[in-house]
Amino acid sequence: MARSNSFDNQTILEGIRRWVEIETPTEVPEQVNKLISVVAEQHRDLPVTLERIAGVDGCGDHLVARSDWGQDRPGILVLSHLDTVHPMGFIARLPFKVEGDSAFGPGIYDMKGGAYIAHHAFRELCAGADRSPLGITHIFTSDEEIGSPTSRALIEKEGRKAKYVLVTEPARDGGKIVTGRKGVGRFEVFIKGVPAHAGSRPEDGRSAIRELANIIMALEGMNDLTRGVTVNVGVVRGGTRPNVTPEEAYAEIDLRVPNFADADEFVGKILGLKSNTEGVSVRVTGALNRPPYEKSNAGASLFEHAKSLATELGFDLIDTHTGGGSDGNFTAPDTATLDGLGVDGKGAHTHYEQLYVSSLEPRARLLHRLYQTLR
Ligand SMILES: [Zn+2]
Repeated sequence: MARSNSFDNQTILEGIRRWVEIETPTEVPEQVNKLISVVAEQHRDLPVTLERIAGVDGCGDHLVARSDWGQDRPGILVLSHLDTVHPMGFIARLPFKVEGDSAFGPGIYDMKGGAYIAHHAFRELCAGADRSPLGITHIFTSDEEIGSPTSRALIEKEGRKAKYVLVTEPARDGGKIVTGRKGVGRFEVFIKGVPAHAGSRPEDGRSAIRELANIIMALEGMNDLTRGVTVNVGVVRGGTRPNVTPEEAYAEIDLRVPNFADADEFVGKILGLKSNTEGVSVRVTGALNRPPYEKSNAGASLFEHAKSLATELGFDLIDTHTGGGSDGNFTAPDTATLDGLGVDGKGAHTHYEQLYVSSLEPRARLLHRLYQTLR
Protein backbone atom coordinates (compact mmCIF):
# COMPACT_ATOMS: atom_id res chain seq x y z
CA MET A 1 0.00 0.00 0.00
CA ALA A 2 1.38 3.40 -0.93
CA ARG A 3 2.05 5.82 1.89
CA SER A 4 0.08 9.05 1.88
CA ASN A 5 1.89 12.30 2.64
CA SER A 6 -1.10 14.54 1.89
CA PHE A 7 -0.55 17.84 0.13
CA ASP A 8 1.60 19.66 2.64
CA ASN A 9 3.89 22.30 1.06
CA GLN A 10 6.85 21.42 3.30
CA THR A 11 6.59 17.68 2.60
CA ILE A 12 6.42 18.31 -1.14
CA LEU A 13 9.34 20.76 -0.97
CA GLU A 14 11.52 18.22 0.84
CA GLY A 15 10.84 15.77 -2.00
CA ILE A 16 11.74 18.37 -4.63
CA ARG A 17 14.91 19.26 -2.75
CA ARG A 18 16.15 15.69 -3.04
CA TRP A 19 15.68 15.76 -6.82
CA VAL A 20 17.25 19.22 -7.18
CA GLU A 21 20.35 18.30 -5.21
CA ILE A 22 21.23 15.64 -7.76
CA GLU A 23 22.49 17.85 -10.58
CA THR A 24 21.35 16.68 -14.02
CA PRO A 25 22.86 18.60 -16.94
CA THR A 26 21.59 17.05 -20.17
CA GLU A 27 25.15 16.40 -21.32
CA VAL A 28 26.18 14.46 -18.19
CA PRO A 29 24.16 11.25 -18.60
CA GLU A 30 25.61 9.50 -15.54
CA GLN A 31 24.18 12.30 -13.38
CA VAL A 32 20.77 12.13 -15.06
CA ASN A 33 20.82 8.37 -14.53
CA LYS A 34 21.54 8.84 -10.83
CA LEU A 35 18.30 10.77 -10.50
CA ILE A 36 16.43 8.32 -12.74
CA SER A 37 17.49 5.60 -10.29
CA VAL A 38 16.14 7.59 -7.33
CA VAL A 39 12.83 8.19 -9.13
CA ALA A 40 12.57 4.51 -10.03
CA GLU A 41 13.24 3.59 -6.41
CA GLN A 42 10.50 5.97 -5.27
CA HIS A 43 8.02 4.03 -7.42
CA ARG A 44 8.82 0.76 -5.66
CA ASP A 45 5.78 0.85 -3.34
CA LEU A 46 3.40 2.09 -6.06
CA PRO A 47 1.14 -0.02 -8.29
CA VAL A 48 3.11 0.57 -11.48
CA THR A 49 5.14 -1.26 -14.06
CA LEU A 50 8.46 0.45 -14.69
CA GLU A 51 10.31 0.47 -17.97
CA ARG A 52 13.79 1.98 -18.05
CA ILE A 53 15.05 2.79 -21.52
CA ALA A 54 18.83 2.96 -21.81
CA GLY A 55 20.24 6.28 -22.98
CA VAL A 56 21.80 6.66 -26.43
CA ASP A 57 23.86 9.34 -28.22
CA GLY A 58 25.34 10.74 -25.02
CA CYS A 59 21.98 11.25 -23.29
CA GLY A 60 20.69 9.66 -20.10
CA ASP A 61 18.02 7.00 -19.63
CA HIS A 62 14.26 7.55 -19.84
CA LEU A 63 11.87 6.07 -17.29
CA VAL A 64 8.27 5.07 -18.02
CA ALA A 65 5.93 4.35 -15.09
CA ARG A 66 2.63 2.72 -16.11
CA SER A 67 -0.22 2.36 -13.62
CA ASP A 68 -1.30 -1.24 -13.09
CA TRP A 69 -4.81 -0.29 -14.11
CA GLY A 70 -6.38 1.10 -17.28
CA GLN A 71 -3.59 0.25 -19.70
CA ASP A 72 -5.96 -1.54 -22.09
CA ARG A 73 -7.39 1.72 -23.45
CA PRO A 74 -6.31 5.32 -24.09
CA GLY A 75 -5.44 7.00 -20.80
CA ILE A 76 -3.50 9.92 -19.33
CA LEU A 77 0.10 10.53 -20.36
CA VAL A 78 2.17 12.75 -18.07
CA LEU A 79 5.39 14.22 -19.53
CA SER A 80 8.27 15.42 -17.36
CA HIS A 81 11.93 15.98 -18.14
CA LEU A 82 14.59 15.56 -15.49
CA ASP A 83 17.50 17.18 -17.32
CA THR A 84 18.44 20.83 -16.78
CA VAL A 85 20.40 23.44 -18.73
CA HIS A 86 22.66 24.19 -15.77
CA PRO A 87 26.23 22.87 -16.04
CA MET A 88 27.71 20.54 -13.46
CA GLY A 89 28.74 22.40 -10.32
CA PHE A 90 26.20 25.20 -10.83
CA ILE A 91 24.59 24.18 -7.56
CA ALA A 92 27.51 25.85 -5.75
CA ARG A 93 26.30 29.13 -7.24
CA LEU A 94 22.60 28.35 -6.80
CA PRO A 95 22.31 26.04 -3.76
CA PHE A 96 18.90 24.87 -2.60
CA LYS A 97 17.58 27.49 -0.21
CA VAL A 98 14.27 28.97 0.87
CA GLU A 99 13.73 32.70 1.25
CA GLY A 100 10.20 33.73 2.08
CA ASP A 101 7.93 32.09 -0.49
CA SER A 102 10.77 31.29 -2.92
CA ALA A 103 12.76 28.06 -3.08
CA PHE A 104 15.90 28.23 -5.21
CA GLY A 105 17.96 25.60 -7.00
CA PRO A 106 19.10 24.50 -10.47
CA GLY A 107 16.11 23.19 -12.41
CA ILE A 108 13.75 23.64 -9.46
CA TYR A 109 11.27 25.55 -11.63
CA ASP A 110 12.14 24.05 -15.03
CA MET A 111 11.08 21.44 -14.21
CA LYS A 112 11.96 19.27 -11.26
CA GLY A 113 9.25 20.98 -9.21
CA GLY A 114 6.61 20.10 -11.80
CA ALA A 115 7.89 16.57 -12.31
CA TYR A 116 7.80 16.00 -8.56
CA ILE A 117 4.31 17.37 -7.89
CA ALA A 118 2.91 15.14 -10.65
CA HIS A 119 4.62 12.17 -9.02
CA HIS A 120 3.37 13.26 -5.59
CA ALA A 121 -0.20 13.61 -6.92
CA PHE A 122 0.04 10.10 -8.36
CA ARG A 123 1.24 8.76 -5.00
CA GLU A 124 -1.73 10.39 -3.28
CA LEU A 125 -4.04 8.94 -5.90
CA CYS A 126 -2.68 5.45 -5.27
CA ALA A 127 -3.02 5.89 -1.48
CA GLY A 128 -6.63 7.03 -1.68
CA ALA A 129 -9.79 5.09 -2.39
CA ASP A 130 -10.85 7.23 -5.33
CA ARG A 131 -8.62 5.97 -8.15
CA SER A 132 -8.74 7.43 -11.63
CA PRO A 133 -10.93 5.73 -14.22
CA LEU A 134 -8.13 6.08 -16.77
CA GLY A 135 -4.70 4.52 -16.68
CA ILE A 136 -1.81 6.90 -16.01
CA THR A 137 1.58 6.71 -17.71
CA HIS A 138 4.28 9.06 -16.44
CA ILE A 139 7.39 9.46 -18.61
CA PHE A 140 10.56 10.99 -17.16
CA THR A 141 12.96 11.97 -19.95
CA SER A 142 16.60 13.01 -20.03
CA ASP A 143 17.03 15.27 -23.07
CA GLU A 144 14.26 17.89 -23.35
CA GLU A 145 16.61 20.83 -22.95
CA ILE A 146 18.43 19.95 -26.18
CA GLY A 147 15.22 19.35 -28.17
CA SER A 148 14.46 15.74 -27.13
CA PRO A 149 16.42 13.99 -29.89
CA THR A 150 16.41 10.62 -28.08
CA SER A 151 12.94 10.76 -26.47
CA ARG A 152 10.88 12.25 -29.27
CA ALA A 153 9.85 8.94 -30.87
CA LEU A 154 8.83 7.53 -27.47
CA ILE A 155 6.83 10.68 -26.64
CA GLU A 156 5.07 10.65 -30.02
CA LYS A 157 4.23 6.95 -29.74
CA GLU A 158 2.85 7.21 -26.19
CA GLY A 159 1.14 10.49 -27.08
CA ARG A 160 -0.81 8.87 -29.92
CA LYS A 161 -1.92 6.04 -27.60
CA ALA A 162 -3.14 8.48 -24.92
CA LYS A 163 -6.47 10.27 -24.60
CA TYR A 164 -4.96 13.22 -22.72
CA VAL A 165 -1.44 14.55 -22.30
CA LEU A 166 -0.44 16.59 -19.24
CA VAL A 167 2.94 18.33 -19.38
CA THR A 168 4.59 19.49 -16.17
CA GLU A 169 6.57 22.40 -17.60
CA PRO A 170 6.54 25.47 -15.35
CA ALA A 171 3.52 27.72 -15.08
CA ARG A 172 3.90 31.15 -16.69
CA ASP A 173 3.43 34.68 -15.34
CA GLY A 174 1.50 34.06 -12.16
CA GLY A 175 0.27 30.50 -12.55
CA LYS A 176 -0.91 30.49 -16.16
CA ILE A 177 -0.97 27.19 -17.98
CA VAL A 178 -0.14 26.70 -21.59
CA THR A 179 -2.50 25.76 -24.39
CA GLY A 180 -0.35 26.87 -27.30
CA ARG A 181 3.32 26.93 -28.13
CA LYS A 182 5.22 28.14 -31.12
CA GLY A 183 6.96 25.72 -33.39
CA VAL A 184 10.75 25.83 -33.21
CA GLY A 185 13.25 25.53 -36.03
CA ARG A 186 17.03 25.28 -35.79
CA PHE A 187 19.40 26.03 -38.64
CA GLU A 188 23.10 26.26 -39.36
CA VAL A 189 24.69 28.44 -42.04
CA PHE A 190 28.07 27.52 -43.52
CA ILE A 191 29.80 30.08 -45.70
CA LYS A 192 32.92 29.52 -47.74
CA GLY A 193 34.82 32.36 -49.35
CA VAL A 194 38.35 32.76 -50.72
CA PRO A 195 41.26 33.56 -48.39
CA ALA A 196 43.90 36.15 -49.25
CA HIS A 197 46.52 38.37 -47.65
CA ALA A 198 44.32 41.24 -46.55
CA GLY A 199 47.13 43.79 -46.98
CA SER A 200 49.03 42.77 -50.10
CA ARG A 201 46.44 40.82 -52.18
CA PRO A 202 42.99 42.06 -51.06
CA GLU A 203 41.67 41.82 -54.62
CA ASP A 204 42.13 38.02 -54.54
CA GLY A 205 39.96 37.53 -51.44
CA ARG A 206 36.24 36.86 -51.05
CA SER A 207 35.24 37.44 -47.46
CA ALA A 208 33.00 34.80 -45.91
CA ILE A 209 32.31 37.16 -42.99
CA ARG A 210 31.14 39.92 -45.30
CA GLU A 211 28.72 37.46 -46.88
CA LEU A 212 27.61 36.36 -43.43
CA ALA A 213 26.76 39.99 -42.72
CA ASN A 214 24.42 39.97 -45.74
CA ILE A 215 22.86 36.73 -44.57
CA ILE A 216 22.37 38.07 -41.04
CA MET A 217 20.60 41.16 -42.36
CA ALA A 218 18.30 38.95 -44.48
CA LEU A 219 17.51 36.74 -41.46
CA GLU A 220 16.92 39.65 -39.09
CA GLY A 221 14.61 41.15 -41.70
CA MET A 222 12.33 38.09 -41.43
CA ASN A 223 11.28 39.02 -37.88
CA ASP A 224 7.59 39.85 -37.77
CA LEU A 225 6.39 40.35 -34.22
CA THR A 226 2.80 41.08 -35.25
CA ARG A 227 2.61 37.66 -36.88
CA GLY A 228 4.50 36.13 -33.98
CA VAL A 229 7.42 35.04 -36.16
CA THR A 230 10.88 35.43 -34.66
CA VAL A 231 14.28 34.71 -36.19
CA ASN A 232 17.36 34.96 -34.01
CA VAL A 233 20.96 34.69 -35.20
CA GLY A 234 22.28 33.44 -31.88
CA VAL A 235 25.80 32.24 -32.68
CA VAL A 236 28.34 33.48 -35.22
CA ARG A 237 31.89 32.45 -35.90
CA GLY A 238 34.36 33.16 -38.66
CA GLY A 239 37.81 34.07 -39.75
CA THR A 240 41.25 33.31 -38.40
CA ARG A 241 43.32 36.51 -38.13
CA PRO A 242 42.86 40.24 -38.69
CA ASN A 243 45.16 40.24 -41.71
CA VAL A 244 43.54 37.32 -43.56
CA THR A 245 40.45 37.65 -45.73
CA PRO A 246 38.18 35.15 -43.96
CA GLU A 247 37.61 31.93 -45.83
CA GLU A 248 34.91 30.57 -43.51
CA ALA A 249 32.01 31.87 -41.49
CA TYR A 250 29.24 30.15 -39.59
CA ALA A 251 25.99 30.99 -37.84
CA GLU A 252 23.26 29.25 -35.82
CA ILE A 253 19.66 30.35 -36.08
CA ASP A 254 16.54 29.85 -34.00
CA LEU A 255 13.13 30.26 -35.68
CA ARG A 256 9.76 30.44 -33.85
CA VAL A 257 6.45 30.28 -35.70
CA PRO A 258 2.87 30.25 -34.38
CA ASN A 259 1.35 27.88 -36.96
CA PHE A 260 2.08 25.35 -39.70
CA ALA A 261 1.55 27.79 -42.60
CA ASP A 262 4.18 30.14 -41.19
CA ALA A 263 6.46 27.17 -40.52
CA ASP A 264 6.36 26.16 -44.18
CA GLU A 265 6.94 29.69 -45.37
CA PHE A 266 9.86 30.56 -43.10
CA VAL A 267 11.63 27.20 -43.18
CA GLY A 268 11.55 27.56 -46.96
CA LYS A 269 12.91 31.12 -46.84
CA ILE A 270 15.77 30.21 -44.51
CA LEU A 271 16.80 27.07 -46.39
CA GLY A 272 16.61 29.08 -49.61
CA LEU A 273 19.15 31.73 -48.56
CA LYS A 274 21.73 32.23 -51.31
CA SER A 275 25.07 33.90 -51.72
CA ASN A 276 25.08 37.40 -53.25
CA THR A 277 28.77 37.27 -54.03
CA GLU A 278 30.51 35.43 -56.82
CA GLY A 279 33.03 32.94 -55.50
CA VAL A 280 31.34 32.65 -52.12
CA SER A 281 29.12 29.69 -51.30
CA VAL A 282 26.32 29.62 -48.72
CA ARG A 283 24.95 26.34 -47.43
CA VAL A 284 22.04 26.21 -44.97
CA THR A 285 20.96 23.08 -43.10
CA GLY A 286 18.28 22.53 -40.51
CA ALA A 287 14.55 22.03 -40.08
CA LEU A 288 11.60 22.52 -37.82
CA ASN A 289 12.44 20.43 -34.75
CA ARG A 290 9.21 21.06 -32.82
CA PRO A 291 5.93 21.53 -34.66
CA PRO A 292 3.68 24.40 -33.55
CA TYR A 293 1.21 23.47 -30.83
CA GLU A 294 -2.10 25.13 -31.62
CA LYS A 295 -5.09 25.03 -29.30
CA SER A 296 -7.37 22.32 -30.68
CA ASN A 297 -11.04 21.68 -29.81
CA ALA A 298 -10.07 18.76 -27.61
CA GLY A 299 -7.33 20.85 -26.01
CA ALA A 300 -9.83 23.63 -25.34
CA SER A 301 -12.29 21.36 -23.54
CA LEU A 302 -9.45 19.79 -21.53
CA PHE A 303 -8.50 23.31 -20.48
CA GLU A 304 -12.09 24.17 -19.52
CA HIS A 305 -12.23 21.04 -17.40
CA ALA A 306 -8.96 21.92 -15.63
CA LYS A 307 -10.23 25.47 -15.11
CA SER A 308 -13.38 24.24 -13.35
CA LEU A 309 -11.30 21.95 -11.12
CA ALA A 310 -9.07 24.89 -10.21
CA THR A 311 -12.12 26.97 -9.31
CA GLU A 312 -13.26 24.18 -6.96
CA LEU A 313 -9.77 24.25 -5.41
CA GLY A 314 -10.02 28.01 -4.95
CA PHE A 315 -7.83 29.46 -7.68
CA ASP A 316 -8.18 30.91 -11.12
CA LEU A 317 -6.62 29.07 -14.03
CA ILE A 318 -5.74 31.23 -17.02
CA ASP A 319 -4.26 29.96 -20.26
CA THR A 320 -1.65 31.56 -22.42
CA HIS A 321 0.51 31.01 -25.47
CA THR A 322 4.25 30.99 -25.27
CA GLY A 323 7.17 31.14 -27.65
CA GLY A 324 9.00 28.45 -25.70
CA GLY A 325 8.83 24.93 -27.12
CA SER A 326 8.29 21.77 -25.06
CA ASP A 327 7.52 18.09 -25.47
CA GLY A 328 3.86 19.15 -25.59
CA ASN A 329 4.56 20.28 -29.17
CA PHE A 330 5.05 16.62 -30.14
CA THR A 331 1.72 15.39 -28.78
CA ALA A 332 -0.63 18.34 -29.37
CA PRO A 333 -1.20 17.69 -33.10
CA ASP A 334 -2.75 14.26 -32.27
CA THR A 335 -3.93 14.36 -28.66
CA ALA A 336 -5.56 16.88 -26.30
CA THR A 337 -2.57 18.40 -24.49
CA LEU A 338 -2.33 20.72 -21.51
CA ASP A 339 1.06 22.19 -20.69
CA GLY A 340 2.50 24.42 -17.99
CA LEU A 341 0.93 22.31 -15.23
CA GLY A 342 4.11 22.44 -13.19
CA VAL A 343 4.99 24.84 -10.40
CA ASP A 344 4.80 28.62 -10.46
CA GLY A 345 8.01 30.61 -10.09
CA LYS A 346 10.49 32.48 -12.25
CA GLY A 347 14.00 32.58 -13.64
CA ALA A 348 14.07 29.36 -15.68
CA HIS A 349 17.63 28.71 -16.97
CA THR A 350 19.13 31.50 -14.79
CA HIS A 351 21.18 31.91 -11.62
CA TYR A 352 18.05 33.04 -9.74
CA GLU A 353 15.77 30.15 -10.78
CA GLN A 354 13.08 29.70 -8.12
CA LEU A 355 9.64 28.25 -7.46
CA TYR A 356 6.93 29.74 -5.29
CA VAL A 357 6.36 27.43 -2.34
CA SER A 358 2.74 28.52 -2.03
CA SER A 359 2.07 27.16 -5.54
CA LEU A 360 3.02 23.58 -4.60
CA GLU A 361 -0.16 22.48 -2.85
CA PRO A 362 -2.73 23.94 -5.28
CA ARG A 363 -0.82 22.76 -8.36
CA ALA A 364 -0.31 19.24 -6.93
CA ARG A 365 -3.99 19.09 -6.02
CA LEU A 366 -4.97 20.19 -9.52
CA LEU A 367 -2.98 17.32 -11.04
CA HIS A 368 -4.52 14.92 -8.50
CA ARG A 369 -8.03 16.08 -9.43
CA LEU A 370 -7.24 15.79 -13.13
CA TYR A 371 -6.11 12.18 -12.55
CA GLN A 372 -9.32 11.49 -10.59
CA THR A 373 -11.80 13.10 -12.96
CA LEU A 374 -10.58 12.74 -16.56
CA ARG A 375 -12.55 10.06 -18.32
ZN1 LIG B 1 11.47 22.48 -19.20
